[in-house]
Amino acid sequence: MANLNIDSVKDRTFDAIVIGSGMSGGMAAKELTDHGLKTLILERGRDVKHIKDYPTTNMYPWEFPHRGVIPMDVQEANPIINRCYAFREDAEHFFVKDHEHPYVQTKPFDWIRGYQVGGKSLMWARQTQRWSDFDFEGPQRDGYAVDWPIRYKDIAPWYSHVEKFAGIAGNRDGIPELPDGEFLPAWPLNDVEQYFSDYVKKNYKNRHVIAARCAHLSKPNQIHLDQGRAQCQERILCQRGCPFGGYFSANSSTIPWALKSGHATLRPFSVVESIIYDENKGKAVGVRVIDSHTKETIDYYSRIVFLNAAALNSNLVLLNSKSNRFPNGLGNDSGILGKYFAFHNYSAHIGAEVEGFTEWTTDGRNPAGGGYIPRFRNVYKQETDFLRGYACGLSAYRFKQHKTEGAGSELKENLVKGDLGPWHVGSHMMGETIPKEINFVALDADKKDEWGVPLLNISVDYDDNDMKMQKDYIDQMTEMFTSAGFKNITPSTNHQAPGLDIHEMGGARMGKDPKTSILNEWNQVHLCKNVFVTDGACMTSTSCQNPSLTYMALTARAVDYVVSEMNKGNV
Ligand SMILES: Cc1cc2nc3c(=O)[nH]c(=O)nc-3n(C[C@H](O)[C@H](O)[C@H](O)COP(=O)(O)OP(=O)(O)OC[C@H]3O[C@@H](n4cnc5c(N)ncnc54)[C@H](O)[C@@H]3O)c2cc1C
Ligand code: SF4
Repeated sequence: MANLNIDSVKDRTFDAIVIGSGMSGGMAAKELTDHGLKTLILERGRDVKHIKDYPTTNMYPWEFPHRGVIPMDVQEANPIINRCYAFREDAEHFFVKDHEHPYVQTKPFDWIRGYQVGGKSLMWARQTQRWSDFDFEGPQRDGYAVDWPIRYKDIAPWYSHVEKFAGIAGNRDGIPELPDGEFLPAWPLNDVEQYFSDYVKKNYKNRHVIAARCAHLSKPNQIHLDQGRAQCQERILCQRGCPFGGYFSANSSTIPWALKSGHATLRPFSVVESIIYDENKGKAVGVRVIDSHTKETIDYYSRIVFLNAAALNSNLVLLNSKSNRFPNGLGNDSGILGKYFAFHNYSAHIGAEVEGFTEWTTDGRNPAGGGYIPRFRNVYKQETDFLRGYACGLSAYRFKQHKTEGAGSELKENLVKGDLGPWHVGSHMMGETIPKEINFVALDADKKDEWGVPLLNISVDYDDNDMKMQKDYIDQMTEMFTSAGFKNITPSTNHQAPGLDIHEMGGARMGKDPKTSILNEWNQVHLCKNVFVTDGACMTSTSCQNPSLTYMALTARAVDYVVSEMNKGNV
């Protein structure tokens, strides 16, 4: 950098740098710029502008060359992302293809990524639940991982803060293990789901089937209109990017909000290689970027850095941020960086047929997806031979059954018409996994990507606890479906690799002790106080709720903290 003049360095100096522009990075940028901080947002992928860059959003089914299905040659070329239910022709362009950004799988791991402005916030299923103290106290109570340095009361106001801005539809269900939030009206359950909900309420203690809580504007407030977003139209084409901004994404909400403030600069095509640590100053001074097109290396400087590259890439950036002071990665004196990596166990489903309800001909076009069964195992007491528990998705639907008999116009008639078949219910498990030292990610010793950055080597797997939990999910749901009178119950377990849950967590966990954790209670690197990690990498344990709302709440909380520390001159 010696040949660069002072002005250039000045141009490359900011109050704050945010690495990654997805779910958590977008929230960091929004919060930092709300405080007036001059913020640089670095994103390795291309820009995706709200509406303008949703090429499929208004296409009719017949306008897709393959009618929405990914063609066989693309499927075969992308075995990893092809296993993700959301990899479809209308959203294909938001997925990182298998060959584009290789990684090393010491154990099989399906890594689903969205490298673009907005990250995976464009692609997500928008399910949003708060954690409770049953979750934050889990590790301490059950003796795994380390104790969370925070409790529900520490994050509750920040859940509210984020929910009000993002817009979360839900009911106030009054369930202690799934705290209520600042809700817009919920999408109601359809009749079959409601029947099951009523049945469970009447026949089971502490089990609930509730309307799914989701990041959709069922009834926008002024703050949502101010973002340029409008009421969700129930098109259920969200995976394409929503032209109404009906669901929350960084693209429709936080990133344009930050840019509108005049305090943010967005730099796409910027692969962050590492965080620069200054030994004399004893803190980070900026970030090293490789321009993804020109491969030019450029340093940017700032007082604080927020690392939000998504859990696995944030581990990679920290591990690759080596200096004389931190030869094993930034803040990693303990050697635990990359370890205790965890995920969610989505390895079981169950379906059944439901008799009756034939007067109802539609499942309700519910963008929330239907119902949600909060964790009911091991909540108030340890009651099984495995630790922790699982939540369950629940939805009821009805298809047209198309006849394939006949030829010519008769066949055409049969295919077009079809009669409605019986109602079905379906559920999938969402289990908590236990963070363990043997589940880790590390820099590969030999292989590098095309920008010269070491590839991530992932070594993560299920354990006996996960398999016992999977069996319990099948047993409990089979019993509940049977007693509710459902027929032809079809449980299924699969051997999907970790990763398809797309809820990667840990590696740089929060904790009280720098010897056993990388981050403190403010998501601040214990040993490098001006670097904050507020995506999934920070998670001490995984609970079984969908995690993104928690990442965003932790992010807003960390920004509030660092701004007050900056004002006091402590950072
Ligand atoms: C199909 C699908 C369904 C999902 N459903 C849900 C759900 O219902 N509920 C839920 O809570 N979560 C869900 N998720 C997960 C959710 O999308 C993630 O938890 C969330 O996006 C994570 O936020 P993040 O900021 O950590 O990462 P991302 O949103 O992925 O953003 C990370 C950004 O960092 C960028 N980046 C990475 N490395 C670098 C680098 N070195 N330099 C610069 N930039 C970098 C990436 O390009 C990306 O834009 C789903 C995900 C998918 C794909
Ligand atoms: S369901 Fe709502 S959020 Fe999804 S595409 Fe339709 S209008 Fe947009």
